[in-house]
Amino acid sequence: MKKDKIEKVLTTCPYCGCGCNFYLNIENGKIVGVEPDNLHPVNKGELCIKGYFGYDYVHDPRRLTSPLVKKDGTLVPVSWDEALDYVAGRLKQIKQESGPDAFALFSSARSINEDNYMAQKFTRAVMGTNNVDHCARLCHASTVAGLAMTLGSGAMTNSIPEISAYSDVIFIIGSNTSECHPLIASCVLKAKERGAKLIVADPRMTEIANKADIWLRVPSGYNIPLINGMINVVIKEGLVKTDFIKEHTVGFEELVKAVEGYTPEYVEKLTGIPQKDLVKAARIYGKAGAAVILYTMGITQFSHGTGNVADCANLALITGNIGRPGTGVDPLRGQNNVQGACDMGALPTDLPGYLKVNVEENRARFEKIWGVKLPSIPGLKVTEVPDAILNHCVRALYVFGENPVMSDPDSDHLRHAFEHLDLLVVQDIFLTETARLADVVLPAACWGEKDGTFTNTERRVQRVRKAVDPPGNAKFDWWIFSKLAEKMGYTGMSYNNVEEIWDEIRRLVPEKFGGMSYERLDNNRGLQWPCPTEDHPGTPFLYKGGKFSTPTGKAQIYSILFNTGNPDTKLDFEVKENGKVIIGSIAELPDEEYPLVLTTGRRVYHYHTGTMTRKSPILNQMGPQEQVEVNPLDAARLGINDGDFIKISTRRGYVAARAWKTERVPKGTIFMTFHYWEACCNELTNTAIDPICCIPEFKVGAAKIEKITPS
Ligand code: SF4
Repeated sequence: MKKDKIEKVLTTCPYCGCGCNFYLNIENGKIVGVEPDNLHPVNKGELCIKGYFGYDYVHDPRRLTSPLVKKDGTLVPVSWDEALDYVAGRLKQIKQESGPDAFALFSSARSINEDNYMAQKFTRAVMGTNNVDHCARLCHASTVAGLAMTLGSGAMTNSIPEISAYSDVIFIIGSNTSECHPLIASCVLKAKERGAKLIVADPRMTEIANKADIWLRVPSGYNIPLINGMINVVIKEGLVKTDFIKEHTVGFEELVKAVEGYTPEYVEKLTGIPQKDLVKAARIYGKAGAAVILYTMGITQFSHGTGNVADCANLALITGNIGRPGTGVDPLRGQNNVQGACDMGALPTDLPGYLKVNVEENRARFEKIWGVKLPSIPGLKVTEVPDAILNHCVRALYVFGENPVMSDPDSDHLRHAFEHLDLLVVQDIFLTETARLADVVLPAACWGEKDGTFTNTERRVQRVRKAVDPPGNAKFDWWIFSKLAEKMGYTGMSYNNVEEIWDEIRRLVPEKFGGMSYERLDNNRGLQWPCPTEDHPGTPFLYKGGKFSTPTGKAQIYSILFNTGNPDTKLDFEVKENGKVIIGSIAELPDEEYPLVLTTGRRVYHYHTGTMTRKSPILNQMGPQEQVEVNPLDAARLGINDGDFIKISTRRGYVAARAWKTERVPKGTIFMTFHYWEACCNELTNTAIDPICCIPEFKVGAAKIEKITPS
């Protein structure tokens, strides 16, 4: 009898970029369980622990249910009219006094495409600035830049199911796949069962590294010597695909010269990777019929992240491992809709569909439908905003569905900058660490309460479906942007429902989304862009037949060099017009005062800054607190035992957390996450950025640890 009362709603997981689908079981207006979708092409009846148990936050009593405005230093509940009138009034005043660029907005990679479209439309059409960005700046900005400049499109080239079906070599570099993309790790293991070879390059002995045929323990920050070393071997042993290179690429001759010095001997000297392992890995990759490279933030989050990405593309290009099923360069996007937030133009340089803001005909396309003149100067990036606030250039910041106080580097610097704002608006589902600092907090409906679309890491646009009602007075994000725009005198953002917003996106960017009606997305369990027409099947892999989407139609090979950090020869970064050379280095190396490398990442039980997963009793029980990974040799030297409280310090600050003595990290390296507000690694991280894409160097910084002895 009880079962009859349970309603099932098919939707897309709100966590990682795998984009698994499952049914939410609804009873009496509440989510009471989850069942995986057996027919979904990615998860095929499986889910990870977050998918099964991560929904509790939806009904958590701590959800925001009323708008809040700060009065006499305290956030107090007010009506929607009062909150929106106040925000509209302050924004009009700031725009009048200081111009449109005194406003900036951080959009949300967790929210649906339609909300991201509305956020950037509000910023551009209502406020008149391109100061809109989101946390892709912190995770895959180097992918967007690096793959766009080499291959033409800043996205995963191939599809997840191709890994288990077609790849005969999988090269995972800088990705803790089992913890961060569990269902992709499952595809990799299925491929391995079929006989595929697995090469993993990572400083940490992760679960997936443990399963590898070859594990290359590359020190954090030394990916370029490793990849160049593999390219060196591939060239020397004649494993390059000469016809493919000749017909479909430019820049190969320069690359040959650039990697000449990266012999296995030299790479071993720099990285400690045994020559025989490097040579073996290069041979396996170079001889593959279909080899795929999977990477994440162990490649992107460096002050030379763009160079790392471009070097991955080089390896794939010279071996012809692109444009066919099971091949490619696959950045695994972290958050559920970070691909979509980029696609929707929540970027300071790009309108929806990656149409550059500084190209007149691109702006004209949007101006015609939006009915306003659009700004042409690219806006500020997330990592540029704190200094712009301190320099009085930005006076009002709107943070939608993000928690920068915990997710951005050097939290103290950020909090200090936020104190200088004239207006901080936060639109979220909980009173996050950032919302606590706000002048106005706007309560939003969450994933299980709204309709729309997410785009997963393989460019698959798929439906998100409303299962339950939002609590109290929480509203849809698109509704909030729409009402605020109306209050500011712009009526071009009024819609009856979210599908109308999606149809406007399809009209404006038909080359990518034209054929993706909600009806087709429903019937196909999503479609992969580009999908230009109603009869187009979507595009599982890009660059078929070596046709790249660069201006020349050919892939551009960049020569990527690495600076060892010797101060006499240190070159920060350089892109030469002829020869396309990029030189990467590490911004902060260990020294006498801070002798350890701090590297950061995630754990399977939690998501981002823990706003959602730490509200789940099961997930929180499994990952209750930060555990700093410390190599036993370092621990012994410092008198630290397993579970001891330690103080972790860098030039930015310090936190205290428990030590986990483990050989997962190499000697001289410690590992932390940003899931726990009590000991967030971003109190410690460096604000050094990649000069091309402005991604911060989260993966390597200098630190020290000491045991805290109770007094
Ligand atoms: Fe959700 Fe990612 Fe887990 Fe799939 S693998 S259930 S998308 S968190």
